[in-house]
Amino acid sequence: LPSVAAGLETCGARRATDGAELHQRRTKMSHSEATNFYINEALEHLEYPKRLRKLLLTPEREVAVELALLRDNGEVATFNAYRVQHDNSRGPYKGGLRFHPDVDLDDVRSLASLMTWKTAVMDIPFGGAKGGVCVDPRDLSERELEILTRKLVQALRPILGTYEDIPAPDMNTGAREMAWIFDEYTKFAGFSPGIVTGKPVWLHGSLGREAATGRGTVFAIRELFKAQGLGEIKNKSFVIQGFGNVGSWAAQILYEMGGRVVAVADAFGAVANEHGLEVPELRRHLADRHSLASFSGGVVLPKEAILTVPCDVLIPAAIGGVITEENAADLQCKIVVEAANGPTTPEADQILRQRGVTVLPDIYTNGGGVTVSFFEWVQNLQNFKWSEEEVNSKLDRVMVEAFQGIWELHTEDKIPLRVAAFVKALQRVTRARVHRGFD
Ligand code: GLU
Repeated sequence: LPSVAAGLETCGARRATDGAELHQRRTKMSHSEATNFYINEALEHLEYPKRLRKLLLTPEREVAVELALLRDNGEVATFNAYRVQHDNSRGPYKGGLRFHPDVDLDDVRSLASLMTWKTAVMDIPFGGAKGGVCVDPRDLSERELEILTRKLVQALRPILGTYEDIPAPDMNTGAREMAWIFDEYTKFAGFSPGIVTGKPVWLHGSLGREAATGRGTVFAIRELFKAQGLGEIKNKSFVIQGFGNVGSWAAQILYEMGGRVVAVADAFGAVANEHGLEVPELRRHLADRHSLASFSGGVVLPKEAILTVPCDVLIPAAIGGVITEENAADLQCKIVVEAANGPTTPEADQILRQRGVTVLPDIYTNGGGVTVSFFEWVQNLQNFKWSEEEVNSKLDRVMVEAFQGIWELHTEDKIPLRVAAFVKALQRVTRARVHRGFD
């Protein structure tokens, strides 16, 4: 055997035990069971035949590949990667690619399904997909990450396409990875900027895309406050779990609007200040590669304490399955705004409902990201560039209209916001599917 095979190691296998244990701790259901629970809950309000229900729950295509990478040290490592295409009744498959050690087929399956309902509830003419590589990107050099990303494109190329399936950023991926994807795909298909969204603004990306999920989350909060008669964002207190692209932009925009961001956490630690953190300073501090814990503008907390810090609004903006039956009773907020995908387990959701805590569901709350992805795709197809104001105001309108649809159902049918959002989404997808026919 050539010596390169000596270090052969599979990420999925290496992490399987940790992942399974973590999972057990977080929820009794798997990620996709939890998502299906929410869909079924909404289906209770719709008189659909059994076979149609099954069609809506089942992904259309699941691709699992193994990516081999020649590491900088000369050893070979392999990584499990997936792309699940859940539904394309309303338009091309659409959804992010994440690089994370917790990625497995079940996780990606659930996230792909959430994308179908997200694009539907936002009324964006896309279907739903998701992909991921089981890797901790911090273990790889930039060169290794680039090769891995290009290998992913090579492996998925037959199922991707500007009018077929369009990836985007997700956890631990951003404009840099999207530029590599664009470049790699272009080698095979010729110039095709619309093959991927979330590209750098100077490489066919859209102004406003990077901040879009955070900005959309803030628009969503504003609409909820209005509907509930709670007034403005100014002086309300917010706690944010996760300080990546989504959490840090949400924090920044809340800060600009006069909100008090009283605590934030990332994967390593948490920092709190009851008078409100100086968010721009904190963002600069982290951009300079310092840790949250070394920020002098607040007190350090263990990161687990973040969910129980008293506040008006708790914003989970990190991984899924963090609000569980073990901690749901301890949350000290009036509202949970799900900027992350799938942060609340069904068991926890029940507890929050009983406690009268409002939950603004993920498929709406974080829909600003894919909405501006749609705007980017449209600009790419037109070979045109919109101003940031235009992008932001169009995003605002989409967030307002989607909210109104959900709120109407919520108040008229007296169903929780999550159920209302899923009902709305299911109706839109079903209408498209049925009118297209089944032949
Ligand atoms: N990954 C983001 C999400 O979960 C964005 C997807 C996209 O823009 O296609 O919504």
